[in-house]
Amino acid sequence: MTKPSTKLAACPICNKPAQESAKPFCSERCRQVDLNKWLNGSYSVPAVEEEFSEDDISELENSRMLH
Ligand SMILES: [Zn+2]
Repeated sequence: MTKPSTKLAACPICNKPAQESAKPFCSERCRQVDLNKWLNGSYSVPAVEEEFSEDDISELENSRMLH
């Protein structure tokens, strides 16, 4: 049961097996999705998605109420 060692990592977008022609993604589509994520967000986004803390959220809501 030995498989070829050319196994590629899973697509970071949808976790399907990556394709050699589009790696590290499974398809050109996922490559575009990833690209759009970069274009829409900050260029310095960390690998882990940023999360708002409870304090940040209540601060936002407070400032909204002032208007
Ligand atoms: Zn994919």
